[in-house]
Amino acid sequence: MIGITSYGAYIPRLRLNRSAIYQAMGWFAPALIMVAQGERSMCNHDEDTLTMAVAAARDCLTGRDKKTVDAGYLCSTTLPFTDRQNAGILATALNLRADIVTADFTSSLRAGTTGLLTALDVVRAGSRRHILVTASDKRETKPASFYEMWFGDGAAALLVGNENVIAEFMGAHTVSYDFIDHYRSASARFDYTWEERWLREEGYSKFIPEAVGALLKKLNISTEEVDHLVFPCFFKAEHRTIAKTLGVAPEKVIDTMHDVCGETGVAHPLLMLVAALERAKPGDGIIVAGFGQGCDALYFKVTENIVKLPSRRGVKGSLENKKSIDNYMKFLQFRGLLQPEVGIRGEGQTQTAMTTLWRQRKMITGLVGGKCRDCGTPQYPKMDICVKPDCNHLHSQDDYEFADLPARIKTFTGDLLAVTIDPPAIYGMIQFEGGGRFMADFTDCELTGLKVGVPVRMSFRKKYSDPERGFAGYFWKAVPQAVAGGAVFDIRFDDRVAVVTGAGGGLGRVYALELARRGAKVVVNDFGGARDGSGQGSGGPADKVVQEIREAGGEAVASYDSVTTPEGGENIIKTALDAFGRVDILINNAGILKDKSFTKMDLENWRGVMDVHLNGAFHVTQPAFRVMRERGYGRIIMTTSAAGLYGNFGQANYSTAKMALVGLMNTLKLEGEKYDIKVNTVAPIAATRLTADVLPPDLQEKMTPEFVAGFVVYLSSEECKESGIVMNVGAGFFSRAAILTGSGTFVGDKKTPPTPEDIRENWTKINSMEGAGPLNDAGSAVMSFVT
Ligand code: NAD
Repeated sequence: MIGITSYGAYIPRLRLNRSAIYQAMGWFAPALIMVAQGERSMCNHDEDTLTMAVAAARDCLTGRDKKTVDAGYLCSTTLPFTDRQNAGILATALNLRADIVTADFTSSLRAGTTGLLTALDVVRAGSRRHILVTASDKRETKPASFYEMWFGDGAAALLVGNENVIAEFMGAHTVSYDFIDHYRSASARFDYTWEERWLREEGYSKFIPEAVGALLKKLNISTEEVDHLVFPCFFKAEHRTIAKTLGVAPEKVIDTMHDVCGETGVAHPLLMLVAALERAKPGDGIIVAGFGQGCDALYFKVTENIVKLPSRRGVKGSLENKKSIDNYMKFLQFRGLLQPEVGIRGEGQTQTAMTTLWRQRKMITGLVGGKCRDCGTPQYPKMDICVKPDCNHLHSQDDYEFADLPARIKTFTGDLLAVTIDPPAIYGMIQFEGGGRFMADFTDCELTGLKVGVPVRMSFRKKYSDPERGFAGYFWKAVPQAVAGGAVFDIRFDDRVAVVTGAGGGLGRVYALELARRGAKVVVNDFGGARDGSGQGSGGPADKVVQEIREAGGEAVASYDSVTTPEGGENIIKTALDAFGRVDILINNAGILKDKSFTKMDLENWRGVMDVHLNGAFHVTQPAFRVMRERGYGRIIMTTSAAGLYGNFGQANYSTAKMALVGLMNTLKLEGEKYDIKVNTVAPIAATRLTADVLPPDLQEKMTPEFVAGFVVYLSSEECKESGIVMNVGAGFFSRAAILTGSGTFVGDKKTPPTPEDIRENWTKINSMEGAGPLNDAGSAVMSFVT
């Protein structure tokens, strides 16, 4: 099977309010009022076609091994270089292998779909297995033109291949005509456009139905088998009419994003295709049509693999991450349409030494530093001598990529004197997770709101322009990340992957939300049964929490497996590995109740509770533990209960299972020690469906799961260095529970065994807990006898 195996998107954060254009230019072009609604996306001053392409491609490569990519195509009509392969710069920035085919597809708005079609043909021919197709455009328009209103900037990327296909390629049809609705000659900056009516009536309205109609005929399918129809057309009425002509219902037609982004040229059919894939279900049929000197039409069938795709920014995330502006002058300035005085400081030398750029291409374009193979210290730039003072080994550095590593602000400043198109220049020191520091320019941020400790992500940007020689220099800048609710968290989980069982409600849901809010990627597991574990289960509770997390900007996937079987446990961990590639945190939280007084407790009640609480923890923890051991890091939390620690009437099954979890913790604490795996246990008290009939209403309000979540999230973090702790937690109150062992006493002369009478006589001494304390392991207990 061949087809699309992954997707990604990038829309710049800045959105220009279209009414701002009208406000500024309406006196000159009053007709602009007709289209002055909504927002268009616009590149920041350091963004262009290439930087957006790199961002979309990185999004597309989420969870995929980029070393397997063996061709990279870049499709655009606004490539920064006419003779320097732009796809080659993209491949260097992404650190793709050198032995791949790179190519630019250009000179038509259809270049995006043509690049995609070519990639599919090449994979089908068997000469390449994984091809990255990126489409990006930043089209220049004359001020106060309709096109300035209609266009936007953006990029999309698709990985095409023959493994893990998420949308199978079923066929395509192309019509090619030398039809000129607009053109841009080799030396021109702006398009020359013919009448819009010509484009609408002779262009869009004829070629799209022709190509799509022929495709349906070729594949012998009807529009019934089209669940998503993708075709850009910035004329709203025409867009509707074309869909109607094709017989596709309005709800199946993917929105052109005119109101929120504008048309992104070559990127747009692929960007809309990404939007379609984001909402598609297995089995859905998608048609994508790319218009421009004819039309390409392609048909895909979505597969089961789509649900396993790791979460990413995509179109949805790009649209959510926005800053609206109504400063039209800024738009003109960023696009070089104004020539304001920059002062003599702005006249500095910007010539690029091609020799240095070639020799240091990995360092400059790919942000590759070094990591000492002797002491493990990362550093940027890579040098001959390791920076670590007590290492200083010579030629010990291996290549080490920094671009995808999370980092944090260490120091920063806003500089009003430095020359920049968008003052103040913001820059500072950032610290990478795992080591390595770097003085970076910051972008896509404002000075207000920045704080030390704020997480940043690296972004490939234009560092400078050299208009004299027509060159642009690219480098990496730091983009401060939006922090949920404006709060800066010290304890974060960026790039950590957490599995929470029973996270569809109650305590587990709140743990999952809080971990995601702090940057963790979360597997929300819940079987979705009744309070006593009965029922067929349902995906609803897990799906709902995943949706909550995603809506808040977090990353999560659902898992509906029951913890009660070994296969279920394996599957839950597999879900994490498939989606996010690792497991760092496991919270064993799933729970049910089947209370009965002891004499009435039948085997079904006993086993049902054991299976969820005790066996369930074993089933999920074992595969997770293996992964954690391999990576040398892990945080595991068991959930016990006061019923287990102290006993509770009618809960013989539950208290046995819950106390057994403490035993499991005791041993895993030891087995995980060498691998930085910390295992701890919480005994929560909170208002949930399990306690709905025991906690009085006034207590329920004071004992929400949020009062427990902070503790569990702390235990899940790197900050937690404890292992083997049991804590009662609820309503803001914490009390540690432990198995304590008294200092002990010998009875008799150690030569003759003590008799029952000796015991009776020495009972007070034997039973004393004076000087009691916890012991670390069974060995310590044995040792106390021996010594
Ligand atoms: P809850 O019922 O709201 O949540 C438990 C979740 O586990 C449910 O969403 C349920 O669907 C899920 N689940 C049940 N069986 C499952 C299975 N086989 N596989 C996967 N998921 C399954 O209850 P809660 O109070 O949030 O309970 C969370 C944990 O805390 C439980 O282990 C419970 O025993 C423990 N606990 C809670 C309290 C308390 O005061 N709420 C007290 C002590 C211990």
